[in-house]
Amino acid sequence: MICIPLTTKTETDSLAAIDAANKHADIIEIRLDYLDDPNCAQKLIKHSTVPIIATWRKIEDGGCNDCNDNIRLQWLQKAANWGANYIDVELEYADEFPPQSNTKIIVSHHDFKGFPNDFETILENIRKHPLCDIAKIAVKIDKIQDNLRIFQALKTSKKETIALGMGELGLISRIATKKFGGYLTFASLTKGTESAPGQITASELRNRFRYDKINTDTKIYGIIANPVGHSMSPDIHNAAFDKLNLNCLYLPFKVDGEPNAFIEDFKQIPVYGYSVTIPHKESVQKSLSQIEPLAQQIGAVNTIVMQKNNELHGYNSDCWAAINAVENKINLTDKNCLIIGAGGAARAIAFGLQSRQANISICNRTFEKAQNLAKECNGLAITQAEVQSIKWDVILNTTSVGMSPNTDETPFDKNGFTPNCVVFDAIYNPLETKLLKEANSKQAKTINGVEMFIAQGARQFELWTGAKAPKDIMQNVMLAKLKN
Ligand code: NAP
Repeated sequence: MICIPLTTKTETDSLAAIDAANKHADIIEIRLDYLDDPNCAQKLIKHSTVPIIATWRKIEDGGCNDCNDNIRLQWLQKAANWGANYIDVELEYADEFPPQSNTKIIVSHHDFKGFPNDFETILENIRKHPLCDIAKIAVKIDKIQDNLRIFQALKTSKKETIALGMGELGLISRIATKKFGGYLTFASLTKGTESAPGQITASELRNRFRYDKINTDTKIYGIIANPVGHSMSPDIHNAAFDKLNLNCLYLPFKVDGEPNAFIEDFKQIPVYGYSVTIPHKESVQKSLSQIEPLAQQIGAVNTIVMQKNNELHGYNSDCWAAINAVENKINLTDKNCLIIGAGGAARAIAFGLQSRQANISICNRTFEKAQNLAKECNGLAITQAEVQSIKWDVILNTTSVGMSPNTDETPFDKNGFTPNCVVFDAIYNPLETKLLKEANSKQAKTINGVEMFIAQGARQFELWTGAKAPKDIMQNVMLAKLKN
């Protein structure tokens, strides 16, 4: 179930919020501590068409109205008398709250400062409390592995339990809780009305993460990245799972530091496949028992597939995606190709071009990196001055020059374009970079980063599922998101 907490102050705003939340929520939480006059809760409870949780959080537990504890408990009792379906009482006050006949009691513990060492003991004490109908624990997640303790606690619970991680690292616990038997998750009505750190909106939970379709059999996939919030991989992969009606969920895993301990620890879920992006494409290789030869040569893995024997195999779908996109426009053999940049994307493209017997030149801000990559792929490192003196068949930008917000920048002088040359930009935001705009104006053939992104994602999807990826759906979702 999804519970939307109200963070409105006035009766009028709260009634409007209930009308809106009734359309998206299975339960609504009325936060008495937010209300200017808690008496209006009586009207709010009657007004809702879905069940109500009444809560008065203390300041140190994320509340916003400091109030004597006795008075706080009296307000909760009033809410129960007015017909609230659930009352949330903290464990340390549960002894003081009288048993209720028609109202379920959520006995809770919150920790906004960090993940408690005695997490399991606290939860056990909550569950054992005679007043407890539903146990609730919400704690700040310090490291992504803390989520596993939450999932384990949910899986082994004999009592209805709400267990959620707060903060950015706790997001996966809010989304995946249903798979592990969590009673409900909290989601905000709109951006900016969150009642705790890390909440996303109910519509994002339902539409981007398919919350309603998650069950105990749902197979987990995800992206390992840092940062991860901006990634469009959850959008395209969850949309593809949805289109093919696959019981799968794709999560954003923000992995700080070395990713191998994370990969090892999350085998217990398990995670059936990963996308891997900045800064982990090189370091994840240590976790893999097999890496396809091309990915080995590139030195970077952007796709991990769990095999039937639980072994992890690595692939690089960036190379394949970029080369395919360019080959749709031109046969690469013996063509003069300029790669601008010498980072991860450049490496993937360089080895792809080498496999097609193209003539490779590399120009990079840090010349030494261009030299090193050129040596590895039998190419030539060239300076910016030399770039303009050569007639190129294919120009490939793999730097972030021209990416939003710096859309006035371009890594290539427009006088160097010739009609019919192919110009590829790995950037997809904006869709048409200054480089591509100027290339178009010179009748060059252009390819934007969306094509590569969709193609690399489609290959990942096919490696994981064995099914043909619905590329049109993936692209529509991505384009719609970019437009927003
Ligand atoms: P990376 O490994 O960090 O490499 C970045 C490259 O860009 C380096 O060569 C760097 O030069 C150069 N660079 C960065 N800022 C620059 C500047 N201001 N002026 C000149 N050169 C600059 O990153 P990556 O993984 O290769 O990604 C590069 C770009 O490709 C990003 O925009 C990324 O979003 C995009 N990409 C797109 C896709 C897709 O599917 N469409 C896939 C992968 C990557 P130095 O060596 O001098 O630092």
